[in-house]
Parts: sequence; C-alpha cells; structure tokens
Amino acid sequence: MRFLVTNDDGIYAPGIRALAETLTKYGEVVVVAPNQERSGVGHAITVNRPLRINKAALFPFIKESYIVDGTPADCIKIAIEALNVDVDIIVSGINIGANLGTDVFYSGTVSAAIEGIFQGIPSIAVSLCTNPYDTDIFLDTATYYLTHLLFELETPLPKHGLLNVNIPGIPQEQVRGIKATKLGFRKFENEFEQRLDPRGKPYYWMKGIPLKPVFDKDDDHLAVEHNYVSVTPIKFDLTDYELLKKLKKDFE
Ligand code: MN
Repeated sequence: MRFLVTNDDGIYAPGIRALAETLTKYGEVVVVAPNQERSGVGHAITVNRPLRINKAALFPFIKESYIVDGTPADCIKIAIEALNVDVDIIVSGINIGANLGTDVFYSGTVSAAIEGIFQGIPSIAVSLCTNPYDTDIFLDTATYYLTHLLFELETPLPKHGLLNVNIPGIPQEQVRGIKATKLGFRKFENEFEQRLDPRGKPYYWMKGIPLKPVFDKDDDHLAVEHNYVSVTPIKFDLTDYELLKKLKKDFE
C-alpha cells in the first residue's frame, strides 16, 4: 500500500513524524508537507507566487519526503499533479488539536484530505484533541486508533468522501471506543486583543474561545468529550437540497 502523508502543523511537527513512522510498517510512505505551521489556513492555495519544493532528509525511515513553502492543499496538489506521487491513501495529520464540527472549514489538516478526495483518492484526516502546551501528548493513542481504522475497518474508505478522525488526547487504555458521528456545531467567541507595535501603531490578535456547545447525541464534540474516538464521514457537496427543490419551483 502507498501512502501520501501531509499535515498543517508543518513538516517538523511531532504528529507527522509519528504518522509517517507508523505507516512505514504497512507500506510505502511519501511525505509532502508545509515548511512551517499552516494551521487555520483552510483550503487556501498559492497562485500569486511560485512554490518551491525541496527534497528533505528529515525522515530517514521513509523513501521520499518533500518540503513545500505552501499550504496543505498545495502540498496535495503538488504531490499528485507535479511530483506524480502514486498513492492509494492520503493521510493528513496527526494534527495537534481537535478538528471538530465547524473547525473542518478552517483546518488545513482537513482541507488537505478534502483536496485528496477532489483528486479521487481515499483520504483521512487525523487530529489529536490536545493542545501543544500539554506536557503529555498521547500520539501513541492516535497511531493505535488510526491503524485500526485503516486496516481493520469493514467499510472501505470512500473515494469521494473522507473520514475526519478525532482522537481524545488521553492514554490509550482510557479511550472508551470508537463512535461514528456527525459534524457538530460549536461557536467561538472571538476576542480581538489590541496591542501596540514598537512604533505605536495598533494591531489586533484574534483569540478564539470555544463556547460550550449544544450537543446533539450523534455529534463529534460529544463523542470526544466522553473519551470516544470520533469518526465523521464528510462529503464536500455543501448543496442544500431542500432549498434547491424550493428554488427550482420558484424559478420554474
Ligand atoms: Mn494544525
């Protein structure tokens, strides 16, 4: 099996290393990842400047790895369309931090996987629900459940839909199981802190504080909150079919 690995935390992040290292036990791994952290860039692509690709020797245990000075979506595009990487499955992650509910629209990790399904390649996004300042980051928990999902799942990975996987940031033995979930909805209260630069000019820094979500019994937030691995199948078709029906009638 051939895997293409990327992320949005950048090629130097611990999550992508753990992921690549784990997947080498199951097949050939090619890493194509951003040169720096690109969390929160969503599905952005680079069109107004050239993209540079450098072969990296960062992962001695894998055949090929490339550093790209672009976004996660750029990395997938370049890997498939320029480097002609032959791949069976794209795995994006392991992101340090949850990508639940509406996060999927902002997440570079999930967007790389969405780019994967645009390319017709089964893709999976993996996030560990922890924060980078935690002293214990349980990447082992993430790799354990990811390999379980990749190799022991009865339902094959869809070509045009992806799995968004969120793993609780706790020791493996404390995880209660896996739940198939839907995307939840969590609002953020964004506070823009105003600061002054050395020249006295104000600038703003956004800090998002998640509000307590209103849980629905099937949603991804709730599963992780209860220490389950959350697996949400996602499609990129955002069409509102009910409204489409009504509008069709209106315009007839
Ligand atoms: Mn990230």
